[in-house]
Amino acid sequence: MKFLKLALAGAVFSMAAAGSAAAQDGKTVGVSWSNFQEERWKTDEAAIKSALEAAGATYISADAQSSASKQLTDVESLISQGADALIILAQDSAAIGPAVQAAVNNGIPVVGYDRLIENPDAFYLTFDNKEVGRIQAREVQKAQPEGNYAFIKGSSADPNADFLFSGQMEVLQEAIDSGKIKNVGEAYTDGWLPANAQQNMEQILTANNNEVDAVVASNDGTAGGAVAALESQGLAGSVPVSGQDADFAALNRIARGTQTVSVWKDSRELGKRAAEIALNLADGTAMNEVEGVEAFSGGPNGTEMQAIFLKPVAITKDNLDTIIDAGWVSKDVVCQGV
Ligand code: BGC
Repeated sequence: MKFLKLALAGAVFSMAAAGSAAAQDGKTVGVSWSNFQEERWKTDEAAIKSALEAAGATYISADAQSSASKQLTDVESLISQGADALIILAQDSAAIGPAVQAAVNNGIPVVGYDRLIENPDAFYLTFDNKEVGRIQAREVQKAQPEGNYAFIKGSSADPNADFLFSGQMEVLQEAIDSGKIKNVGEAYTDGWLPANAQQNMEQILTANNNEVDAVVASNDGTAGGAVAALESQGLAGSVPVSGQDADFAALNRIARGTQTVSVWKDSRELGKRAAEIALNLADGTAMNEVEGVEAFSGGPNGTEMQAIFLKPVAITKDNLDTIIDAGWVSKDVVCQGV
């Protein structure tokens, strides 16, 4: 039995690890999901699970169901179940801090998965999120080079929201400065929830008498919310909309013409890399010795981190074949009802 000292939310207490999984020969990796109901994370999970299985390791997990406070107890519970390493998709990058520190203090390596957890002792594995933002803006701008733009941003508790927005602005700033493009409304989407995105889009439409020419939405869930709002005003299909994740519904919207672009981040690869890195770190590999690692200090606090960035790919009507050929989705699903 392992005794762990946890210092969460200021309180220090000891916890006896049940250790049933830890008692096995292989390592145990605990994955803390923030919002597992969203389509993409199921693909990430399958990839993590199969890479762990292939290595003879055990997968344990918890879903915070979009609650930052539940995620703190989830991480505690994964530690007490004997996790040798943690992979954490943070619901709230600031709120998760004490749980990450508790793991680190107990010698349990942490991989910040997809979203930045700005702690120098956590590894950062993600896609190039600024590039995702650039792709979104570039494709919307190609379709609608001028006019009134709305920005449906991600969750303010997720640093990706601002990385995406800064990539979008890199592309659009010049046209905004010259007056070609006008930012007529931008809003964070609480919890990345499509219903909140729909509400934000409705408000922007109302405030502008429906005179919105383009929507830069930060993921496919929020794109779905924005398209629903456009639909009820008879505008879906005539206003370009971006997204990301290559969700099946979004790929179908691209085929139907109500969404312009999704950004495909092959999470099969991200999940596999996360499992491998978690096991390497649990085996004692130093973070700066992980294959492909680079230094990163672009977070809000400028903390130097060890990171890996995978490359995102634009998916539009012109290259839907790419993602079908890669085995991500079937043609039937993409073309349903088209
Ligand atoms: C991820 C996106 C995802 C969003 C909502 C972001 O941090 O990078 O892929 O759509 O969270 O879960």
